[in-house]
Amino acid sequence: MKSEVSDALKATSTLRKILDDEDDHTTMNTMSLEEVLKNFDTKNVEFIRYPILRAKHRATPIPISTSDKPNGTCILAIDAFFQFFKELTLGLKFYQKGGSVDDVNRMISALKKTFKLNYTTPYFVPTPDEGIVKRVANFVNKDFGNVPAKELRDVKREGFTVRILKNELADLGLTTKFPEIQNYAEAVYFDVMERKKERYLRTCDLFDAVEHCQLNCTLERLPILKKFVHNQKGCHRVYGLECEYCDGGENPETQKLLVLKKELAELQKAHDKICKEYRQKSREIQELEKENEPVVKRMKLDDSYELSIDDEERNAPSTSNLS
Ligand SMILES: [Zn+2]
Ligand SMILES: [Zn+2]
Repeated sequence: MKSEVSDALKATSTLRKILDDEDDHTTMNTMSLEEVLKNFDTKNVEFIRYPILRAKHRATPIPISTSDKPNGTCILAIDAFFQFFKELTLGLKFYQKGGSVDDVNRMISALKKTFKLNYTTPYFVPTPDEGIVKRVANFVNKDFGNVPAKELRDVKREGFTVRILKNELADLGLTTKFPEIQNYAEAVYFDVMERKKERYLRTCDLFDAVEHCQLNCTLERLPILKKFVHNQKGCHRVYGLECEYCDGGENPETQKLLVLKKELAELQKAHDKICKEYRQKSREIQELEKENEPVVKRMKLDDSYELSIDDEERNAPSTSNLS
């Protein structure tokens, strides 16, 4: 965290001025180790590696004491976002009950202390309290609790297929909300398969799949949120997501490099194909030559024979004249 870096540097009096966009009460910015090492004299600072631990769906809060909350904890903003979204879609069944993407947009804006969409580097937030999703959902949609919504079905022992996932999305009424949602099913299913913990897909995997299909729809409709997820390095955690910012979409240099690399790969492929064809044809020619050797010889003989006739004819015009 940035404040920790500046505290450490102040303590060793290598830093006189506070880092400009230092943390406020609600967010704790981060900076990369390279950035710290490059810009500051850190010879008296000891760095401790602190892993971000995650249970399947929840990040383990990191203890951090601030002046207002001596026993406070924090998590990465991106973990807060994923937890928020899971609670919203699977817990509250927000979209199934008629909530819209616009509502979600308003909720995210209402939670501006947690979700700083303009931050371009990962940051921590105080661990959100339990009821926050419900409160903010009620804030956009008052009579939302009494709306009925279908439960997900249980998955049979042998798992489920893409077709079952697609049917489930329709059964839950999500295709009405998002007509395109089934288009994500295949890519999401593929990622669920990649990350499954047991031999066969289970009910919890179907929950994940249904959640991530809704996440894809939401992010594609709210580009600013998609950018946030990318900036917070969360795009690889969304099943089946195509992130244009990762594919060098932003930086023209990277894009150019990507195009060149692709062209080079195409050329290499074409080259390999030509080489293969060349070898193939040479082999065929050799084989044919071998097989036809006597014929070729005979043809040569015939040639010379004909030639000799020709020659005879040419050499003996009188004879032909006679005949
Ligand atoms: Zn990305
Ligand atoms: Zn990427």
